[in-house]
Order: sequence, then structure tokens, then C-alpha cells
Amino acid sequence: MNADLDQSAAAAFRGYLEETGNAVFMTGAGISTESGIPDFRSPGGLYSDPANVNVFDIDSFLADPSIFYRFWARFLPVLEQARPNPAHRAIARLQDSRKVTVVTQNIDDLHQRAGSRTVWSVHGTVATSRCLKCGARTETAELLPVIRLGEVPRHSCGGVFKPEVTFFGEGLPELDWTNSQTAIQEAGLLCLVGTSLTVFPAAQLPAFRKPGGRLVIVNRDPTPFDSEADLVIRGSAGEVFGDWGNLP
Ligand code: NAD
Repeated sequence: MNADLDQSAAAAFRGYLEETGNAVFMTGAGISTESGIPDFRSPGGLYSDPANVNVFDIDSFLADPSIFYRFWARFLPVLEQARPNPAHRAIARLQDSRKVTVVTQNIDDLHQRAGSRTVWSVHGTVATSRCLKCGARTETAELLPVIRLGEVPRHSCGGVFKPEVTFFGEGLPELDWTNSQTAIQEAGLLCLVGTSLTVFPAAQLPAFRKPGGRLVIVNRDPTPFDSEADLVIRGSAGEVFGDWGNLP
């Protein structure tokens, strides 16, 4: 990274943060790669194995849930071992001096574990699972002995449990979606971190920002919103936020 560019970008970002009493951080899988959780689309990401391309597709799940649960048995330990990194922690610290809302596409719970108080999870949560036949809901932790074996967890009614994560082809959790829109509409600063902004409808959210609101993007690769941003910082989130550990 270019040290001069870093300094001027850091100064601009600090300025924007100082100006606003209300910031939203919208995050994607990229904020958690430095915690050891692969994203979808980076080299080495989950999609680099063709076998993974449909694991989060609802039609594939309904056709054969065993494919998902064999993947999940391997992926769960990765989620369980992950810890919040400097980017999650810096975003949590920022709420000490202003209103901060996190809108995340992630299902890894790392913002909550870093201490962020207001987190809207537009793609749901792994914490709970629901029976697809009768609708019974349970803590996913209750199902772990079966899931760890790579087997399909079933409710006593015979239905298959599915984690309450939003799969491709499913609607988004309504409360999280509505609250995300409202938070983005009201914020003076929207910062997008570690997201390719190619997964819809989540990728529509930045368009809800208010006229005159600032847009900052921290991402390793270009995104479709770069041309609209006040500031684009091309780098690793952990490095960017870690270097700037004492953001105002
Ligand atoms: P994506 O894989 O499409 O894009 C990730 C983006 O992050 C890329 O543009 C990449 O350049 C950037 N990136 C990767 N590492 C980075 C880093 N350390 N610092 C800065 N940028 C970095 O991910 P997406 O846009 O979030 O969309 C895919 C979907 O993946 C989301 O819906 C999410 O639910 C799901 N997902 C979540 C997790 C998780 O919970 N940690 C993991 C994998 C996938």
C-alpha cells in the first residue's frame, strides 16, 4: 500500500467520522477473511471450489439437504474458531462517541462478539434453525451433535431443519431489512467494508443513503459503487482499521 495515500485517506476518513454523529457500517464476507473465514469470490474463497457454488441455494437444499449439511460439517468449525479482528473491534469502538449501526450480510456473529450493540443481519443467523415441515424453531446448538457428523438434522415430526440463514432464492428477514434501510436513510456516513456488492437485494441498500450523506468504501477489489463514493480505500479491512486504531 502507498503510505502517502494511506495518510491522506486516513485523514479524510477521520474528518468524515468527526463530522457525523450517525454512521452506518455495511459489511460483507471480506471483513471476516482476516478472522480466517473465507469469503465467496476472492481467490481461495468458497466459490473457488465448484462443489460449493450451490450450497446456499434454496432449491438445491430442498432437493437434497445432505449436500449442504456435509459442507456445513466442515464449515462450522471454521466459524466456531474465528475471532473478531481489528476491523470488527474498531467499528465497535466507534459507537463510544457516536451512533453506529452495523448492517451485515455475514452470518458469523463477529460484530456482536466484538461488542457492536446495533447489528442488523440482512442474511439471517446460524444461531437458530427451523423445521421446514411444521415450522418449529430451535437453537442450532441443540442440533450440533448431528450436524458435526455431517448428517441431516430432523425434527420429531420428520421435517428437515434449516438454519435461519437466508439462502439464494429466499426472502430476507423483514425486520432486519426494514431497520437497515431506515438506518442508512438517516446516517450522515455510510461505510461499505469487505463486500463485492453483487448479492441482491442487499446490494440495493447503499442507494437508500440520504442526499449529501457521505459514502466511504473499504474493499480489496473494485465495487459497482466506487464511482459514487466520496472515498475509496483499496486495502484489507483489518489493516486499514488496525492502522487507524484510534479513529475519532
Ligand atoms: P463476496 O465474497 O462477494 O465479496 C467479498 C469482497 O470482500 C470482495 O470484493 C473482496 O475483494 C473483499 N475482501 C476480501 N477480503 C477482504 C479484506 N480482508 N479486506 C477488505 N476487503 C476484502 O462477499 P459478499 O459481498 O459479502 O457477498 C457474499 C455473501 O457471502 C454474503 O451474502 C454473505 O452472507 C455470505 N458469506 C458470509 C460469510 C461470513 O459470514 N463471514 C462468509 C462467506 C460468505
